[in-house]
Amino acid sequence: MVAPQVSVVIPVFNEEAGLPALFARLYPALDALKVPYEVIFVNDGSRDGSAALLEIQYLARPDVTHVIMFNTNYGQHLAIIAGFAHVRGERVVTLDADLQNPPEEIGRLLAAMDAGHDYVGGVRRTREDAWWRRVASRAMNRLREKITRIRMTDQGCMLRAYSREIADAIADGPEVSTFIPALAFTFAHHPTEIDVAHEERAAGESKYSLYQLIRLNFDLVTGFSLVPLQLFSVFGMLVSMGALATYLGVIVYRLFAGEWHQALYALWDRDILSFFLIGMVLFGLGVVGEYVGRIYQQVRARPRYTIRAILESPQNDGP
Ligand code: UDP
Ligand code: MG
Repeated sequence: MVAPQVSVVIPVFNEEAGLPALFARLYPALDALKVPYEVIFVNDGSRDGSAALLEIQYLARPDVTHVIMFNTNYGQHLAIIAGFAHVRGERVVTLDADLQNPPEEIGRLLAAMDAGHDYVGGVRRTREDAWWRRVASRAMNRLREKITRIRMTDQGCMLRAYSREIADAIADGPEVSTFIPALAFTFAHHPTEIDVAHEERAAGESKYSLYQLIRLNFDLVTGFSLVPLQLFSVFGMLVSMGALATYLGVIVYRLFAGEWHQALYALWDRDILSFFLIGMVLFGLGVVGEYVGRIYQQVRARPRYTIRAILESPQNDGP
């Protein structure tokens, strides 16, 4: 058996209706690439017949098929991480099991890697999803672009190719709530993006409810940015400064109006005072947030940096 060069990782959660169609398109598409490959399905605790179908597919193509069975549902991103921990190929491709990501596009991702990229993101040319999902994800893409250092056009597209180094770095991390396309971006040194096709779900329904989508976006924002925490201190500072300016304004106004004996009473003005104090409280919350943020970064235990290469001559050990 030849060692695989390309490992394809596919999370599966209750996809029995679509799996036969996936198998029918995925394997011919991969065979056509003429590179040794392996497919790693991760059954994310499906409660339908997905596990049985995966088992049958494993028996049909045991040479190139691996199936990891979770005991219960951990979510798409942890399923992919489990796949990453098992890959043997130098290149790793992820795609969804519902055929929304056409397997025929894998060759184009790999071609971009041939051109020297270590991370190739897919950008869905036309998106075949409900309108509210398109609107929401455009807004989230824009927000993420502003508050993190991650530069991606289409964070939600899972049709992506990663170098083995990046997949290993992701699999080695202890993080539980994470967002793989963004995490991979932080580990990549020469990422790129290409347009890919997107199709309607072949069968079954989306496995993400509105609530889960919101949770996922919290994973993305809190996992890669401390801005939400820092907003408090900035807002608190603005409120306090506004209150101080109001004090000054009122005192100066009263002095000029000849009410000099009233001027200092402004300091006791309840409204201005409470604005000032609310500002201080928010600022204090923000400062606590700064510390919490640092603790959070520390416990996340992400590699502090990844080194691409070291240029140095062989060490001269002896005298
Ligand atoms: N998925 C998973 N675990 C989950 C939810 C989804 O493994 O808890 C898989 C699912 O089987 C599919 C992929 O993740 O292969 C994307 O899910 P889906 O197509 O439902 O998401 P959408 O396309 O609606 O964003
Ligand atoms: Mg889908």
